Amino acid sequence: MPKPPGDDSSLREHFAWSYGMLAMVHAAVGDGKSRYEPLHYMIRGRFRNGYISGKIKMRPLHDDEKTKIAHATTCCYCGRDAKLSLDHLIPQLRGGPDSADNITYACKSCNSSKGSKDMVLWLASKDRFPAILVFRRYLKLAARWCEEADLMDTSWSSVPDAALPFDKRSLRVNWPALPVHRLWPDPPQT
Ligand SMILES: [Zn+2]
Repeated sequence: MPKPPGDDSSLREHFAWSYGMLAMVHAAVGDGKSRYEPLHYMIRGRFRNGYISGKIKMRPLHDDEKTKIAHATTCCYCGRDAKLSLDHLIPQLRGGPDSADNITYACKSCNSSKGSKDMVLWLASKDRFPAILVFRRYLKLAARWCEEADLMDTSWSSVPDAALPFDKRSLRVNWPALPVHRLWPDPPQT
């Protein structure tokens, strides 16, 4: 089991860790598995190491835009099929871009509850974890922002919170067990 990056590790290593986890979970959920298999751990290693070395880059957001269109009738946070509003995934108030790829569909309830909070920490405060395809978009946007700001080689602990439009603690959240994960959120049962 590789160790997660620490305070002195660079933002790139933190992104690589999350990216590797994301790839592993995505593959396992996509395969319909309830337990990780050796292939899934290999995928995690490949993405994590590849991202650190620069051999693998996060893909552009084209696939994420297709996902958004395919799920345009449900809230990307809770899966509810309700009257939807447009939400900036990385809040504009924190410096998130006003670009189409930062805009998602959210129900009014999630939209106002999230406000200008960081998406990952906001969901964590409700004991929830983002759906994999929503986390993927978030991670790509956050990484793009850090690349452009030339912060990737700065250590996690020395990047001031105010310098980022997302919360860097989101790169260190505990990933729940595999059966909890969904590619897209299930609608509530009620
Ligand atoms: Zn919602």
